[in-house]
Amino acid sequence: MDEGTWAFVRENWTAPIEIVILAIALFYIYSYLEGTRGARILIGLALLVLASTLISTLLNLVVISWLLRSFSLFFIIALVVIFQPELRRALTELGSHRFFGSAFENRETIEEITDTVFELAGKGFGALIAIEREINLRAVAETGVGVDCDYSKELVLTIFQPKTVLHDGGLIVSNDRIVAAGCIFPLTQREDLDRNLGLRHRAGLGLSEESDALAIVVSEETGQVSICHNGIIERDLNVEKFRNRLSHLLLLEKYEDRPDTDPSLAA
Ligand code: ATP
Ligand code: MG
Repeated sequence: MDEGTWAFVRENWTAPIEIVILAIALFYIYSYLEGTRGARILIGLALLVLASTLISTLLNLVVISWLLRSFSLFFIIALVVIFQPELRRALTELGSHRFFGSAFENRETIEEITDTVFELAGKGFGALIAIEREINLRAVAETGVGVDCDYSKELVLTIFQPKTVLHDGGLIVSNDRIVAAGCIFPLTQREDLDRNLGLRHRAGLGLSEESDALAIVVSEETGQVSICHNGIIERDLNVEKFRNRLSHLLLLEKYEDRPDTDPSLAA
């Protein structure tokens, strides 16, 4: 290799490393956001910025280049606003301890919840039940009425009787205990959902976007049972499927598991 090539290599040897790090970071950001409302906005914004930067550099458009540089801070603020729910979840996951086992370990409770959910569906009661995992749901629990008792099917069936005061809103289960009822969950802002999904489903999905909790939704209208987790809704589960998914999500899954396809997008 001649002197010129050596000089070039010495000056630029970090460039491939930088490219690899950037590519990996972009890949992970995209996989994290995939399927969310923000992903399309992000792609649109990135294309817009790339195209205008390219054109203004190639044609040497001084004013447009200056505008782009001046507005970069604005773009960053816009991104933070657009991705607020996703950022919140990512930061909460970072800040919460996940080295100790799940907050939920009792197989009997899974069996009891399965019985409860299908009895609710059979009776035509609507229900929304959140199961806390590592991220604390105290803030959401405070929007409702504190309960604090062992999980009991009878109590949950009573709470979701359409005539009771507490049937509106969501119930929170933590550590095999019922901690609160009548809670207001954050609604998802997604616009690509099936029109049949009303507020109850949107609240379950919203909670699963902002925390690592599972949200079980029993539809009052159709009796269908769905599970929301990691910002995904799995709809119309039968008893077997429900029990399997619940055991898997509560006892096995450690966050990474995300199905390739998002069933909520199917009309
Ligand atoms: P269903 O299939 O049972 O009708 P849905 O998804 O169509 O469910 P709605 O019919 O809008 O939803 O359900 C309204 C009920 O959802 C309310 O009575 C209330 O109990 C519950 N709900 C609505 N918003 C929230 C919220 N933010 N947090 C918790 N529960 C909520
Ligand atoms: Mg409805």
